Amino acid sequence: SLPVVVIAGRPNVGKSTLFNRLAGRRYAIVNDQPGVTRDRKSVEIILRDRSVSLVDTAGWEEDDPQTVFGRMRKSSESAVASADVVVFCVDARSGITPVDEHFAQWLRKQGKPIILAVNKAEGHAGDIAALEMYSFGLGEPYPVSAEHGQGVGDLIEAVLDAL
Ligand code: GDP
Ligand code: MG
Repeated sequence: SLPVVVIAGRPNVGKSTLFNRLAGRRYAIVNDQPGVTRDRKSVEIILRDRSVSLVDTAGWEEDDPQTVFGRMRKSSESAVASADVVVFCVDARSGITPVDEHFAQWLRKQGKPIILAVNKAEGHAGDIAALEMYSFGLGEPYPVSAEHGQGVGDLIEAVLDAL
């Protein structure tokens, strides 16, 4: 079966936007509201020369960080378990939050290759965020703008290398 690439991370970092960007069309619902419930989406795509199954994760129902983390983990657990590579998405504009840290801590224990995508990195935000992200302990950060497309080629190469 196809290698599985899972996009994970807390709500509102731009996972669905990145999913749509990598898929080359709009499949997932992009929403400003972190609390919106959405189904997990999966689509077969070709990354440069390889077919992979790309999975967007979602499923949060509340805004409270404590419950968000619980729900995030629950919904992400099955997706991450099936992953060959996890694209862990964070937000260059908000920086690393406690929820990102909790999630990263959990993610490290899953033993999957992790690619750190620092989204919303267009303009100044990307340069500033990159340094902070290096100390995050998830390897080299890949600054991307899912919305505008910058950095996505390098991210794809990193995913392919990790497969
Ligand atoms: P998700 O909850 O992680 O799936 O995030 P979404 O993909 O729904 O996006 C959340 C918000 O971030 C939306 O308002 C997007 O338009 C915005 N967003 C996504 N990618 C980018 C980006 O590269 N740059 C900026 N500035 N905003 C983005
Ligand atoms: Mg989403």
